[in-house]
Amino acid sequence: MSSRQDAVTGPGRRNRRRLKGRQVDPVALAEVRALLGASPRRRDLLLEHLHAVQDRYGHLRARHLVALAQEMKLAPVEVFEVASFYHHLDIVEDGDTPPPAITVRVCESLTCELFGGHALADTLAKRNLPGVRVQKVACVGRCDSAPVAIVGGRPVARASAEQVAQRLQAGETRAILPQGCIGYAAYRGNGGYRLLQDCAEGRRSVEDVIDALERAGLRGLGGAGFPAARKWRTVRGYPGPRLVAVNLDEGEPGTFKDRYYLERDPHRMIEGMLIAAWAVEAEAVYVYTRDEYPECREILRREVAALQTNAPCALPEIHLRRGAGAYICGEESAMIESIEGRRGMPRLRPPYVAEAGLFGRPTLEHNGETLHWLRDILERGPEWYAGHGRRGRSGLRSFSVSGRVAKPGVVLAPAGISVRELIDEFCGGMLAGHAFYAYLPGGASGGMLPASLGDLPLDFDVLSEYDCFLGSAAIIVLSDQDRARTAARNILDFFASESCGKCTPCRVGTAKAAALLREPRWNLPLLEELSQTMADASICGLGQAAPNPIRSVIRYFPQEIE
Ligand code: SF4
Repeated sequence: MSSRQDAVTGPGRRNRRRLKGRQVDPVALAEVRALLGASPRRRDLLLEHLHAVQDRYGHLRARHLVALAQEMKLAPVEVFEVASFYHHLDIVEDGDTPPPAITVRVCESLTCELFGGHALADTLAKRNLPGVRVQKVACVGRCDSAPVAIVGGRPVARASAEQVAQRLQAGETRAILPQGCIGYAAYRGNGGYRLLQDCAEGRRSVEDVIDALERAGLRGLGGAGFPAARKWRTVRGYPGPRLVAVNLDEGEPGTFKDRYYLERDPHRMIEGMLIAAWAVEAEAVYVYTRDEYPECREILRREVAALQTNAPCALPEIHLRRGAGAYICGEESAMIESIEGRRGMPRLRPPYVAEAGLFGRPTLEHNGETLHWLRDILERGPEWYAGHGRRGRSGLRSFSVSGRVAKPGVVLAPAGISVRELIDEFCGGMLAGHAFYAYLPGGASGGMLPASLGDLPLDFDVLSEYDCFLGSAAIIVLSDQDRARTAARNILDFFASESCGKCTPCRVGTAKAAALLREPRWNLPLLEELSQTMADASICGLGQAAPNPIRSVIRYFPQEIE
């Protein structure tokens, strides 16, 4: 034996031969390779590959994560840190017991809590159903049928423990596609994609299209309300290659309008997305859909495939991507991080997404509903869209209305309508036995207002003097049987659970505020100090808006905290 070998293998040097950290299991590696097949091993596909493993095995074994890291030429820590970020991914250490095969997710966000979501989850958990685990989860985007339980992949509307048990017994746990969705042939038969052809074949100019959006006054309808035309011009102003990213991660509690439109008329959004891609000369489009919407993902997969098989004109690349249960990925830069295969943590800005977004390229980011309206605006004319409105406001808004109204659902109404008009004219009034008490004009983030301010115009910009905003137009109506402080507590629990943890004011502040709101007597000076810190020093809108419900209760519902 040579002296060199002695040095490596001799006493005291043996550890040198052992690799540090977790070792690759050849069986797990073979399983991962078989699952991935010919799919590229690119970093941006990491989340997709994690889904593939979890879909196959029901959870993510540590040995599969190590094997995936090896296969994708990543450090294991990079795979573990991504897998551990998302609520819907289950990491199980080798040797530990895996989770039961079926998960029942019971929504505990505000509207579902109003209708007994917590009690439903507790009742189901106490039943110890074999092979089933029960989780309380954040908003699943079906607030109009609260309380909601998702049994495996199938939603149960206005759920009771008995209904959930029946579904489980019958093995009805797979998502089913909604009826009445307008498919590709029917959409084209009704004039669909002619507009895109007009654009692609030069019968419409980019400047004319952008000008029409400007005259319509179309704004981003995902929450920020940024003027669409200005965004398009900004993106076009940066040198290519450019990209489009479509945000279908509507996770704001109370919001379900993108799902509503996608389940009924997906090509209207797809045509809008392709017109946007044409206008900014994007070479590819990425569509990021929340994991809570398996039906929408399947509709998009099917309809995009039909479009690509018989395309009306040359198309950009279309990539469909799947979220994994993280509210923060509705924030545009967090969504981009997630598409790139990383934790969904918001980026510091500048640079803005329009300049350096997805893969560092100029990126036009829009939510689904914004794109949904392009065809109507361009075919009917901008005056048609701008001609709607009340109280001096202009345009149409899709309100997701839930809570104590007789007919909750998506309501298409003029901008500037009041909540009282929405309830009376569109929602069949209040639920029997309930009197209007308060409302949330913009989901969990947008603050809370009392019924005495129920005649304010609902639109962008106008609610800021009341410390509220419209956001994604998710209206949650509370009655005299509800309490604003309970609603605030629910919302802070949600923010504490969904904070991505990147910045301290939000990570620590939301948890601390949630704990303070559980006190029978609120410590108002401390809550205000905490609120100011979160609003001033948080990186993104989650932490900045987290104080809104607290401040609303203090300002408008003092009788509840005295
Ligand atoms: Fe993350 Fe909250 Fe900071 Fe946003 S504000 S970056 S969600 S920790």
